Amino acid sequence: MRIDILTGLPKLLESPLQESILRRAQEKGKVEIVIHDLREFAHDKHKTIDDTPYGGGAGMILKPEPIFECVESLGSQRSYDEVILLTPDGEPFSQRVANELSLKANVMLICGHYKGVDERVREALATRSVSIGDYVLTGGELAAAVIVDAVVRLVPGVLNDTESALSDSFQDGLLGAPQYTRPAEYRGLNVPDVLLSGNHSEIEEWRQQQRFARTKSRRKGNYSS
Ligand code: SAM
Repeated sequence: MRIDILTGLPKLLESPLQESILRRAQEKGKVEIVIHDLREFAHDKHKTIDDTPYGGGAGMILKPEPIFECVESLGSQRSYDEVILLTPDGEPFSQRVANELSLKANVMLICGHYKGVDERVREALATRSVSIGDYVLTGGELAAAVIVDAVVRLVPGVLNDTESALSDSFQDGLLGAPQYTRPAEYRGLNVPDVLLSGNHSEIEEWRQQQRFARTKSRRKGNYSS
């Protein structure tokens, strides 16, 4: 899988994509993540990528030209399954969307900044708009990092133990069960006896009960991805 990220602030993405599982996934060749600096597509010597909004108002808007030209340059090299605009008013990101994206070959993520992105980017370039939650970030870079992280760990062969992705919260519509490790007793806090019993069917049954109970109480019983 290849993921291209378009941003005016590439440095914001360097560290989150170069650690832990994301770094390993790239080293193993399971995923290629390429960051594109929109300023390289600016037309003036100051590398301007934003401008004031038509109609007045606060904040600067990312200009269409650098984004169109970057997307077109990438699109002439390969075909993209999705061109995703990151925006707070987009489709909510979820485990379902992460699963869907993890099956794609080429995905582009467009990060906005400042007051937002010229609407013509959404109209003419984006195949979908995605939000990581009902709150406003300074820019799309952290949203892109969240999406890349959630998607890449689902790409086959990225996690050593695929079971650990399959048994995570949301994969089957339920929250995860509580997890414990050694010691069995710590500061008077005990690991549930069933987990120490060695009885695998009872452990599985307990975990499922915990998952249903947690989903019921924390997601009002109707979690939907
Ligand atoms: N003026 C915009 C609005 O009212 O919806 C907010 C712009 S925000 C300050 C700047 C950029 O951050 C957006 O263009 C988007 O790319 C990104 N962003 C902010 N919050 C986001 C979220 N919840 N999900 C995805 N991207 C987000």
